[in-house]
Amino acid sequence: MWSFALARLAGVLGLAVLLGLIFGQLWLWLLGLSCLYAAWQLIDLYRLDRWLSTRPKTDPPDMGGVWGGVVAQIVRLNRRKRFHKQRVLSLLRELRRSTAALPDGVIILSRHREIHWFNPPAGRLLGLKRGLDIGLRIDNLIRNPEFVKYLHGERFAGPLVIRPPKPGECYLSIQAVPYGAGQILMLVRDVTRQMQIEAMRKDFVANASHELRTPLTVISGYLDTLAEDPGVDPAWAGPIHDMRSQTQRMTLIIGDLLELSRLESTEGEAVRDPVDTGALLARLHRDALARGDRPAQVELSIESADGLFGSARDIESAFTNVLVNALKYTPATGSVHMRWWSDAGGAYFSVADTGIGIPEEHLPRITERFYRVDPGRSREQGGSGLGLAIVKHALQLHGGQLDVHSVEGKGSTFTCEFPLVRVWRRPERAVAEAAAQSAPRAKSA
Ligand code: ADP
Repeated sequence: MWSFALARLAGVLGLAVLLGLIFGQLWLWLLGLSCLYAAWQLIDLYRLDRWLSTRPKTDPPDMGGVWGGVVAQIVRLNRRKRFHKQRVLSLLRELRRSTAALPDGVIILSRHREIHWFNPPAGRLLGLKRGLDIGLRIDNLIRNPEFVKYLHGERFAGPLVIRPPKPGECYLSIQAVPYGAGQILMLVRDVTRQMQIEAMRKDFVANASHELRTPLTVISGYLDTLAEDPGVDPAWAGPIHDMRSQTQRMTLIIGDLLELSRLESTEGEAVRDPVDTGALLARLHRDALARGDRPAQVELSIESADGLFGSARDIESAFTNVLVNALKYTPATGSVHMRWWSDAGGAYFSVADTGIGIPEEHLPRITERFYRVDPGRSREQGGSGLGLAIVKHALQLHGGQLDVHSVEGKGSTFTCEFPLVRVWRRPERAVAEAAAQSAPRAKSA
């Protein structure tokens, strides 16, 4: 193409030289034919420009030479672009059709939390309107405080369940999935049915436990009387002893079930009463030392004077359960170390023991209700299988979590972690006082 164009230019110039030699005025002929050549090129350029500005509607101009080649290139590029565009469009249509067919809501949010797109179920569940709400910030439309907090959180751990604003509306589970450069894919599900079943289950457990408590108290009272009655045939001593220990076990299970129901039915977050954790732990330490069946060493180190803002009852319940487990699952020759400390990220209570440990495969499930690594052993130790479920719930109500490290046969460390918002910062002076309070007792273990 280019050699043809060069040959044509050379031909024009050659013709001008020939005409100049024949008729004289060589420079004039050269100038005249060059101008004609330039005008010809300009006309082609003009036709190309016209076609480019009306491209989709008109056929490409029929041009030869270099310009014809350029037109052919443009047509080829255009065809390729159209093909890719069609492919992307059909993929997009397919994607939209499939997300529209989903029973769950899907919303795409920009990094500034503006709504980019949503499918019909999301519109129905959240009351969004296609024409009006696209481009608006979602937290201006859904003003539920828990939702706003979740949306602006750093991590989107687990789905958030939001309660219906009015009775009769649905419970929604919202899961945000970050992607790309800060955009968010938000999945919305109606979980009203699951919540109703869950509420029924909780009510049933709470009511059944409550109803069982009174008859059990009566039975246990009579058994105590019988055990102390000298008139009872000594042959009954063994069965009465067994019956008493079984009723004690039932009382313990019912107590734990009621505690768990209480924690589960607590609405929202735990209260924010100041709790002096150092004093609480010193008391738990004293109680642990007073137990006859405890391991040889039970130590407490309080490394921070900070306390917690929370429910004293729930915090005590969580700490007691973790501690009692360590005492139960550690042999008499072992040791248990309780530790309280805080840092820039929050506050922590850990209990490290040198007990039987937990095989790794059981770790993910030990906070489930009634989950026991060794049911026989747990029962033998007077365990209900509910202790760690209580700990998990109590911590969750405080925005905290339970961290477990354990090696079978070597021991375990359970750490209750509390977020910074729950930490009650206290002056350093109090650290020394708290340490002085706990140190002599720690050594007495
Ligand atoms: P339980 O009443 O049976 O102790 P928990 O919910 O408190 O129930 O604990 C669940 C299971 O986790 C226990 O049955 C036990 O197998 C295991 N576990 C808990 N704490 C410890 C520990 N400190 N050392 C070893 N195993 C433990």
